[in-house]
Amino acid sequence: MGGHPENPVRRRIALIAHDNCKRDIAEWARFNRALLAQHDLVATGTTGQLLAAELGIPVTCLRSGPLGGDQQIGARIADGAVDMLIFFWDPLEPHPHDPDVKALLRLAVAWNIPVACNRSSADYMISSPLFARRYERRQPDFADYANRGWSALAASADQVA
Ligand code: PGA
Repeated sequence: MGGHPENPVRRRIALIAHDNCKRDIAEWARFNRALLAQHDLVATGTTGQLLAAELGIPVTCLRSGPLGGDQQIGARIADGAVDMLIFFWDPLEPHPHDPDVKALLRLAVAWNIPVACNRSSADYMISSPLFARRYERRQPDFADYANRGWSALAASADQVA
């Protein structure tokens, strides 16, 4: 299932930009303000404050990325509360929260969430015909993994010990 529970074409869009990419995301968001205003925006702290000021529309601001914001967005993806991720990560600088970045990208792939990591892919994503209409995102089935049961795992650990 994709989109807001009450309005499937109202997307829940998560936005993040590393510091060297903030200008990029601000320009991109300004250009696409009218479209973004029709959706629910959630962002890491500083990116969210920047976008709210630039666009004059509500943005749910989580913690700053390095302080847990990336992980908060990852948790929302795992909870089915994010429909797409726009994440302008900086390819030229290491970051103290690189493991969080990797974890977030991993969860987005695991849950089959569309991800745009630069302006051109973000342009493609929001201008896709699929963006404008109801879209049933294929939900991965993790039932086998989730139900693999702790007792069998504990038993095999006993055998090793
Ligand atoms: P920020 O976090 O929006 O709070 O700057 C972005 C990040 O570095 O993950």
